[in-house]
Amino acid sequence: MNLTNRSKVVAKKELTLMESMYLPAIFKGMAITLSHLFKRKATIKYPEETREIAPVYRGQHVLKRDEAGAERCTACGLCAVACPAEAITMEAGEREKGEEKLFREEKYAKIYEINMLRCIFCGLCEEACPKEAIFLTDRIVPSSFTRGEEVFGKDKLVEGLDERVDVTKRQTPDVLSFKQDKKHAHNQTFQDRLKQ
Ligand code: SF4
Ligand code: SF4
Repeated sequence: MNLTNRSKVVAKKELTLMESMYLPAIFKGMAITLSHLFKRKATIKYPEETREIAPVYRGQHVLKRDEAGAERCTACGLCAVACPAEAITMEAGEREKGEEKLFREEKYAKIYEINMLRCIFCGLCEEACPKEAIFLTDRIVPSSFTRGEEVFGKDKLVEGLDERVDVTKRQTPDVLSFKQDKKHAHNQTFQDRLKQ
């Protein structure tokens, strides 16, 4: 049944003598293949070779520690709320006495996870964080064989005490002053709004 009137009858064209020998098509194909041998390669042999990336490339996240080594994240959840991919989950814990050196604030992230398969590396979590705790870095997220391995917990996200991750390229003075400028509504706390 003809439903759309767009069907066409295709005539089966007889092949010429040359066409029936397939030689012109074979030579044409060989010429295209040979021409690619002399062109610049579009691919690289990753991971042995890597491409140059921008210093502000948005790659694997880091959860930062402060100067004294305490975790900066206070499990406020703003990064999770800002995340359009719903990739971030966390569970807050209360700091115990004697843990002041481990966690900067009284509340901290007992569990903090980012699902790298959901993440679109937009950087909104970094922008939303009021504690300068989460940053994207120029590190490429390593591939893995299972989905579970792509859910990064604190073991992979929090920077090592002796292996600090430099984020100064992302946190320029301009960026910092923009984040602290109370003129912008997204930089205002609830208390700031009460004062207005
Ligand atoms: S970079 Fe974007 S998508 Fe990825 S966790 Fe942060 S807010 Fe979510
Ligand atoms: S990373 Fe920042 S925004 Fe996210 S929960 Fe921790 S302190 Fe809040």
